[in-house]
Amino acid sequence: MAVTEAVKLTCPTCGQANRVPVARLSEGPKCGICGTLLLDGQVAELDASTHDKITRGDGLPVLVDYWAPWCGPCRMMAPEFAKAAKTLAPAARLMKLNTEDHPEIAVRAGIRGIPALILYRGGRELARLAGARPAAEIVAFVRQHTGG
Ligand code: ZN
Repeated sequence: MAVTEAVKLTCPTCGQANRVPVARLSEGPKCGICGTLLLDGQVAELDASTHDKITRGDGLPVLVDYWAPWCGPCRMMAPEFAKAAKTLAPAARLMKLNTEDHPEIAVRAGIRGIPALILYRGGRELARLAGARPAAEIVAFVRQHTGG
């Protein structure tokens, strides 16, 4: 019998690493610990711990929006980012990190201006995009770099 192929999906709420069979990705997988829906097309807010776990090893593409509450363009882009998250689910997850609360992460990621979008998969950075973008551009950017 073949081993079922599974992808690692870290829960943005509790940080649990879940292994989800590829065949179940479109069936609304939930975190085994806290029950958070893992691929519901909502933009999850990351903290330092979940950010590092997710960007260092998750199997599905993750696009992180590095933003701050004082940043006007960031706030303007938020609804576009949310729209893109719904469009891209369940193939990719979109999340955001508040760089005012976690400046050390922005520094480590080499971010010079916000909003900045960085696309990760399997612990690697695939690509980054600077500045506020409409939903269609965000979707196209993710698809272009993930072959989907
Ligand atoms: Zn959880």
